[in-house]
Amino acid sequence: MTEKPELIAGAVNKMLHAIRPLAFEELVWDGQARFGDSLYQRMRETLTTATNTCGAPAQASKAPTRMDILAWFVAIDAAVAQWPGPPGTTLDKLTHYHDRTWNPTELRFVKAVTNRCEAWAEQARQLLGDTQQATPLGEKCPKCEAFWVYTDETRQFALKAVMTGLESFTASCAACKTVWYTPAEQALFRRMLDTHAS
Ligand SMILES: [Zn+2]
Repeated sequence: MTEKPELIAGAVNKMLHAIRPLAFEELVWDGQARFGDSLYQRMRETLTTATNTCGAPAQASKAPTRMDILAWFVAIDAAVAQWPGPPGTTLDKLTHYHDRTWNPTELRFVKAVTNRCEAWAEQARQLLGDTQQATPLGEKCPKCEAFWVYTDETRQFALKAVMTGLESFTASCAACKTVWYTPAEQALFRRMLDTHAS
């Protein structure tokens, strides 16, 4: 294995962006940016609410069912328990992964953790009924030069940003599927984002 240090640095940075909203705190917009509870915490509260409705499952059809949420916890807790590291809860291990240093030889595992955490966060947002907090950037993709992307009957901006922290975000292109997330790449898109904020 001849993994380059900058590769693992970029992969770890992406993993931190995947772990934070899931396990620590998620950025929410309510007129201004602020940090809210993590998806894991909100799922736990939703599970408790669904369970405590006089012992009966919630009747509201739009709320996620207790089984949906339980399945999500079973999937994440079982998978994380199999991952290497000191014993503890799912949040303990994700915190450990967030804080420890990673070697270039662990690049594949870091990427695997990132993919799983992104998928769990996406599922949680769907179950919680969150809308995607994407800001269209209104400029051409710097890689494929797409401005629009067409889905069914609708036309949307190809280039969008999703905030991952008060000062950090990922930008992605729906046309070529490129995702930018490193601090250097964020600087490239900050001007576009600031145009919308002003
Ligand atoms: Zn593109």
